[in-house]
Amino acid sequence: MSLNLNMPIHIGLLGAMPEEVESCVTKLQHLKKVEHGDLTIFSGELNFTSSKNQKVQISLAWSGWGKVSAARAATRLISEANKEIPIDLLLFTGVAGAADKNLDQFDIVVAKAVIQHDMDASPIFDKFIIPAIREKYLYSLPKYSKWAYSLLEKSINSGELVNFRKVSQGIIATGDQFISNKSLISKLADEIPGLSAVEMEGASVAQVAHQEGVPWLIVRVISDSADDKAAENFNIFLEKYKESSWTLIETLLKNINSV
Ligand code: SAH
Repeated sequence: MSLNLNMPIHIGLLGAMPEEVESCVTKLQHLKKVEHGDLTIFSGELNFTSSKNQKVQISLAWSGWGKVSAARAATRLISEANKEIPIDLLLFTGVAGAADKNLDQFDIVVAKAVIQHDMDASPIFDKFIIPAIREKYLYSLPKYSKWAYSLLEKSINSGELVNFRKVSQGIIATGDQFISNKSLISKLADEIPGLSAVEMEGASVAQVAHQEGVPWLIVRVISDSADDKAAENFNIFLEKYKESSWTLIETLLKNINSV
């Protein structure tokens, strides 16, 4: 990613829950912690270098569920991190409900684009348009989403990334709602063509990053099918996922300068 291999790459790493990103804290050297109210931002240098021997600086936090908490954490993370070295990429990773029937638990979805499914300022703007930026969809830069997709596909096929099933690219929809209703998830899938997954943070983080001029990438792992069994599936899954989340993050960070 960075042409100057003497400079570390700086990655902002966000999740909603500790199970999704906390494992990375134990891999940081010169660990620093900054508290803003109830939000802790961890930072430090990874205790391994990326594939081209470049150092990787991490600023990391988990936000709590929902768009407000995620936007607040993203804003704090970007401003805190940028005091030292500007963030090269803001990566949000965590779990999501499947909207595409072909997706199952432990399938990975890399967001090509995200949308806020609960945004509706009609009749002034069309449904889903975010008034501040007058867009429905926010697109991740293809150089990041394509890179993540092919890297993860290669790593699954070679057996380096165990526990995960398959990876795809698609649309991820965000809203302040845990979706656990079959007719609701079908309605969203009808309204949003190409919808892969639903969650509660991604598109608000992407909006903050977009407005702050920071590249972003969202990588989600399916935990449930967003239908009537979602809550039950979710809780069992989360326990198992805790052990796998690091291998996913590690794969991305190790190869970050092959973007
Ligand atoms: N049933 C769980 C609720 C968890 S939803 C419980 O009661 O403990 C919380 C997190 O998982 C959010 O961060 C969200 O982004 C993600 N998520 C997973 N499945 C989801 C779904 N079906 N709908 C919305 N968000 C989901």
